[in-house]
Amino acid sequence: MKDRLENIRERIKIAAVGCGRNPETIRFVAVSKTVSVERVRRAIEAGVTILGENYIQEAQEKIRILSSYPVSWHFIGHLQTNKAKYVVRLFDLIHSVDSLRLAQEINKQAGKLNKVQKILIQVNIGEENSKSGVYLKDAERLIREISHLQNLSVRGLMAVPPYYSDPEKVRTYFAAIRELRDQIKKENITNISMDELSMGMTGDFEVAIEEGSTLIRIGTAIFGKRN
Ligand SMILES: *Cc1c(COP(=O)(O)O)cnc(C)c1O
Repeated sequence: MKDRLENIRERIKIAAVGCGRNPETIRFVAVSKTVSVERVRRAIEAGVTILGENYIQEAQEKIRILSSYPVSWHFIGHLQTNKAKYVVRLFDLIHSVDSLRLAQEINKQAGKLNKVQKILIQVNIGEENSKSGVYLKDAERLIREISHLQNLSVRGLMAVPPYYSDPEKVRTYFAAIRELRDQIKKENITNISMDELSMGMTGDFEVAIEEGSTLIRIGTAIFGKRN
């Protein structure tokens, strides 16, 4: 585990330095879906500080059992409106907000807990039916609508581009997300910050870093292949 984490940190550093970025501006989320509590514990003890989970039930148990560790939990999966209340209780950052209805429900549940919930807006950059996310062309409108919700704090954008075995093919998608981020940032919308770009996974995180990612989401390279 330590070796794998060390290897990832080294790769992040090489990619960052290679494109003139400070490696400390890039954090990684260890994606622990389907991984047992004990393996997640080992990862935390080896130095992981952010965990990413996709399924609420699975995450609930892990977070409860591992609650004594000072780590941050991020929700990165598809979120149904009726599950918003659980997510707000458990997670520091929700990467996958893609509709006003969902945002309104998260806002309402956060309000009940006196919490300002940090979120990212998920963009379906390849306009794929199989994926969640708002289309690029609709993202700014959604963000303007969400900016009025007092118990939400938008921190940036998240994307899962179409799959290619060659990560170079994904570069234009990452670049499009970065351009959208820059454009929205220029608008200076009240209550909206655009500092985080959640993009890049095991197969393509170096390219994502070159295109501006600040949060990469790594599962396989840390925990091995999932079943
Ligand atoms: C599973 C998952 C990941 C991690 O993918 P790997 O290829 O195993 O690194 C990243 N992001 C999301 C949204 C995921 O569901």
